[in-house]
Amino acid sequence: MQDIRSVTREELLVQFENWQEPVYRVDQLLRWLYDARVNAWDEMTNLPKALRGKLSSTYSITHLALVQCQGARDTTRKFLWRLTDGAMIESVLIPASPALYGERSDRHTLCISTQVGCAYGCRFCASGLEGWKRNLRPEEIAGQILAIENLNRLERAQEKPSSGSAAVDRLINNIVVMGMGEPLANYAALMRAIQILNAPWGGGIGARKITVSTSGLAPQIRQLADEPLQLRLAISLHGATDEVRQKIMPVNRKYPLKELTEACEYYQEKKGRMITFEYILIAGVNDSIDQTRPLAALARRLHAKVNLIPYNKVDGLEWSRPEESVQEDFLGALESQNVTATLRREKGHDIDAACGQLRLRTERGQTQAE
Ligand code: SAH
Ligand code: SF4
Repeated sequence: MQDIRSVTREELLVQFENWQEPVYRVDQLLRWLYDARVNAWDEMTNLPKALRGKLSSTYSITHLALVQCQGARDTTRKFLWRLTDGAMIESVLIPASPALYGERSDRHTLCISTQVGCAYGCRFCASGLEGWKRNLRPEEIAGQILAIENLNRLERAQEKPSSGSAAVDRLINNIVVMGMGEPLANYAALMRAIQILNAPWGGGIGARKITVSTSGLAPQIRQLADEPLQLRLAISLHGATDEVRQKIMPVNRKYPLKELTEACEYYQEKKGRMITFEYILIAGVNDSIDQTRPLAALARRLHAKVNLIPYNKVDGLEWSRPEESVQEDFLGALESQNVTATLRREKGHDIDAACGQLRLRTERGQTQAE
């Protein structure tokens, strides 16, 4: 059964017409789904019982179950969710941080997952460690935003019971698709989720506020360039030569740098938008100053901005982050080659750790306990 939160307004219009239901019923339904965010047909009190019956025998209405939330309010928080089949995914909620992906704002960025596990097996990444389990469905991708905003509403209602209103506070105004999984390997579901999150009748989040990150699937980057939506694109580069990239990212064998950069150029030309290169600094792997030359050349050619991210240690993996002085020197060398670059200067390997790690720890903990 298809979930109601993976159906677009256009598709509902067709369905309702077949049922000989008036158009305004579609909009009433959409308000229950995306404003009031109820998770049961019976709560849709202004829809006739017969219509609710037709809906419930045609569509499912699911939501994500919270397993664990790490971190205090107003700091970075990590959410672990259980899906209806028991699989687990995570999302990371980041208070507005101008240095990261968006502009200054009083709201939040949410980092969402698109797959359970990941098939791409980058050597440094926790998400790929246990392999790929399955693709997320559109409602599971979009559901991460809806579920967190619902939790926020509940928390606020507890603090100030009198202010409780039916409509959801829109907490999240930036989305980065940088959680578990390779988004462009789950292309159709991702695009449908984005369409729903972006629609005025759905999540109402501007396409320019949505960043898709990829390890470098060149054909899908071109496909994304041909979409009408003005999404932001981030490339997980992590190596500026095939030699370095190959060592840590198996995907580079399939789509070597030449193919990847040509696809990025196509995206840049079609969209006229600046691409971001994500570059994790890993000690002794990609952090030497001579790597800044090919990196700067690539960034200049593609008018890309470089985000340097000190590596977060992953249990069971040998990699580590370079000393702070090495990180700063690497940044300085890029800047002196006329590249716009930022360095994430967070302390320690705390909750800001990359997506995939909480799930890994929870699943391994469970395995040990069994
Ligand atoms: N599969 C996509 C999106 C998810 S990964 C991609 O690879 O782009 C999101 C980002 O986190 C990527 O840039 C990834 O390389 C980075 N990442 C993975 N493990 C990390 C770690 N241990 N420390 C820091 N960044 C990490
Ligand atoms: Fe998959 Fe991205 Fe992790 Fe690579 S970095 S294993 S593509 S999630």
